[in-house]
Amino acid sequence: MIETYRRLYGSVDGLRVFRAPGRVNLIGEHTDYNFGFVLPVALDLATFAATAPAADGKLRLHSIERQETREFDVAGLAELSPAHHWTDYPIGVAREVARLGFAIQPANILIHSTVPEGSGLSSSAALEVSSALAFLGGRELAPLELAKLCQRSEREFVGIPCGIMDQYISVFGREHSAVKIDCRSLDHQLVELPDGVTFVAVNTMVKHALAGSAYKDRVAECAAAVTAIQQEFPSVKSLRDVASQDQFESVAGLLPPVVARRARHVVSENERVERFVASSARGELETMGKLLVASHRSLQYDYEVSCAELDFLVDHALPIDGVYGSRMTGGGFGGCTVTMLRPGAVEAFAASIARSYERRFQVTPRIYRCNPSGGAREVTSSETIPAVG
Ligand code: ADP
Ligand code: MG
Repeated sequence: MIETYRRLYGSVDGLRVFRAPGRVNLIGEHTDYNFGFVLPVALDLATFAATAPAADGKLRLHSIERQETREFDVAGLAELSPAHHWTDYPIGVAREVARLGFAIQPANILIHSTVPEGSGLSSSAALEVSSALAFLGGRELAPLELAKLCQRSEREFVGIPCGIMDQYISVFGREHSAVKIDCRSLDHQLVELPDGVTFVAVNTMVKHALAGSAYKDRVAECAAAVTAIQQEFPSVKSLRDVASQDQFESVAGLLPPVVARRARHVVSENERVERFVASSARGELETMGKLLVASHRSLQYDYEVSCAELDFLVDHALPIDGVYGSRMTGGGFGGCTVTMLRPGAVEAFAASIARSYERRFQVTPRIYRCNPSGGAREVTSSETIPAVG
């Protein structure tokens, strides 16, 4: 990556490199923007932002994955509108960094990522957080503020009404641990996963066009559910506040049927996160696996954000030897599944699922081991900066 930087920008004087990981969410899907619980793991797949001062007053952004450079006037960042282009992610972040009082310095920035784009492993948050660290250039910002500014940028500049999970885990990820995040209090708890299991993500290699609009629809449907539930329970400010599935069923009849199904997913999913964490602490592997499958079915039938490719991967994972459970992960309509299995079963699982998927869809799925890694930071040793290509 350093050599590419030198070739592109001529000099590596003053170069600093920042890394922010992608993530896989083990359970708690579409709960973050309802202020509920999620349980992601930061991955060893990550986005790297290399930055050094630019002498000519410009801000340049180059993505190795896009093979493209764009140039901006530092003084004009506040006046920019979204360009519906990948640079919206770092530019939105630059504007938020500046708004917090950290002036954006002219810089040449090179982006390189090992997180697959649009696959539900959160390449967007990895890009935002690594860019934010590059813009800050070592200036101190509290980790929670860093996560929040990146979320604000995706919501307000990119225009996706996302929750806090992706940016939070990219900042707070920890080796050997999943992180249970309370998306209301913004506290978290490290969750050590039991011995004898590992997690693997399988990429459908598709992202259906519906994904973006359906995400916004679900956010709106959840808001409609809250408004209706408030007629009975005025203290419910978000679906997180529904105390139990029983409480929800007592008012479900007030909601239009589709809205009721959306809300039922969110309420039951929050409970599944709690039960998954409790089962994990007790080493109840079978129960954990069943909760993953229940999460998938709820996303498939009640929340309706799955697709044929994801359902196929889940259905074909479950009978494979050593598999405890499997579900779609991320927003849905493509992207990845996450599967919990015995470590010794990974190779045979990968071969078997790839074979069935290829036969059915004529596409080879990419498969990633989910090794829990640390959160965003500056990379100081050249060994950990990836080679390109
Ligand atoms: P996910 O976060 O699940 O990967 P999103 O649709 O939220 O999917 O974000 C993907 C978008 O993020 C891409 O379309 C692109 O605009 C941007 N992006 C992510 N990684 C890169 C990269 N390495 N170079 C340029 N743009 C990137
Ligand atoms: Mg994203």
